[in-house]
Amino acid sequence: MSKFRLKMSRLKGEQVASQFGFEALPIDPFKIAEDESIVVEAKKPDREGMSGCIVFNDDGVGIIYATHIRSEGFRRFTVAHELGHYFLEGHPEEILKTAPVHFSKAG
Ligand SMILES: [Zn+2]
Repeated sequence: MSKFRLKMSRLKGEQVASQFGFEALPIDPFKIAEDESIVVEAKKPDREGMSGCIVFNDDGVGIIYATHIRSEGFRRFTVAHELGHYFLEGHPEEILKTAPVHFSKAG
């Protein structure tokens, strides 16, 4: 990611956090999702290829996060990452051009 895009993404993240009442760390991505009526579910730890995904459909938006890595921080990061796919302007539209779901992999 370019420095500019990184900076814009960080600004957007801070803006969204602030909109949902988080002015300082820690920020709770699960609470932001809940307030936005996004359904968040844990995935069974049987498939390791995916760290998370976001699904856009007619009923709403859902986020699934992996649990094969037993770290609260990893789970929070994953949900926050998927929220980025939701909140970045024009991003859901880009995802929907190909499929109603976007899978993310942690390297
Ligand atoms: Zn992703």
